[in-house]
Amino acid sequence: MSEDWLTGPVLEQLNSGVLVVDEQLKLVYLNSFLQRHSSVQLSDAKGKSLFQVFTDVPEAWLRRKFASVLELQSPSFSSWEQRQYIIKLPHLRPVTSSSQYMAQNCTMLPLKDPEGRRYVCLLIEDATDAFVYQQHLQTTLQKLELSNRIDGLTQALNRRYWEEQLKLEVQRAQRYQQPLSLLLFDLDKFKQLNDQYGHLGGDCVLIELTARVRVLLRDTDWFGRYGGEEFGIVLTNTALAGALEVAERVCLAVNSTAVTFHEQSIATSVSIGVAQLDAVGDRAHEVLIGQADIALYNAKRDGRNRVVVFSAGETEFLLKAN
Ligand code: GH3
Ligand code: MG
Ligand code: MG
Repeated sequence: MSEDWLTGPVLEQLNSGVLVVDEQLKLVYLNSFLQRHSSVQLSDAKGKSLFQVFTDVPEAWLRRKFASVLELQSPSFSSWEQRQYIIKLPHLRPVTSSSQYMAQNCTMLPLKDPEGRRYVCLLIEDATDAFVYQQHLQTTLQKLELSNRIDGLTQALNRRYWEEQLKLEVQRAQRYQQPLSLLLFDLDKFKQLNDQYGHLGGDCVLIELTARVRVLLRDTDWFGRYGGEEFGIVLTNTALAGALEVAERVCLAVNSTAVTFHEQSIATSVSIGVAQLDAVGDRAHEVLIGQADIALYNAKRDGRNRVVVFSAGETEFLLKAN
């Protein structure tokens, strides 16, 4: 008994593409799904080379695949993750995706007719849902990774990530014998500022000042929030003279213009501690932080709104006085 009554309607109503080519890769059959999505009619395409009808398929790759299916008489598979699509078909989803084409899982099956002639059947399954889902997942993971590195209030790097970068940069600088400087700065009398303008006023100052500092830095510097109103800047490939220049600019960016909050002008300043990794030193990054912190403490002790460089000796190098 012939099963044409069964196979015909099933093939025609299948929600996947079915395409059959002979050994010369001439088209023998296209089901309705493929005709509908590609706007190619079986009656026009039958007997023509697959590559003449579908001009943008990856010809060399597909020839190799089909040759191996015919020769080995065993199926072959290609997922959308390896190759997003074989035949460019527009997808019909009202979703935003980086591709307007249907992502495809494709199976190539060896076939023989009753006379023993060999064919390859290409089954094309629509995998656009999985493709779009994976894209969303990727975007979400990227956002998550970013939020894992960034301080929510100021958008500077958070302490954990910043310190990781400092550690890596210290190792790199030591390996390549390059200079590296560290600035730690802390806003002056911030508790008082909070008391006077409220916590929101304080937050506004933190946001505004970090934005002012960020534009002073190079892409290769690392700017992070070390604590409440304390920040760190890793200046890669920068010796003391360069670090002092940056520190001066940070001071100026903060104290030269007041921050406006609810029509009030909030004036503020920073104290900065500077530490430097010398080429011969083999210090851990924690030691460098400790040294910058001592210099920062001395800047506070000596009257604030100034830059102090850590020095191993008794005397600190006082750069800027009120
Ligand atoms: P000094 O000049 O010695 O640094 O004085 P200070 O008042 O700035 O020093 P202290 O470290 O004692 O105070 C820091 C204050 O910063 C205390 C804390 O309430 C405030 N602070 C920390 N994080 C935030 C924040 O995210 N927003 C606001 N508005 N205030 C914060
Ligand atoms: Mg402070
Ligand atoms: Mg502080």
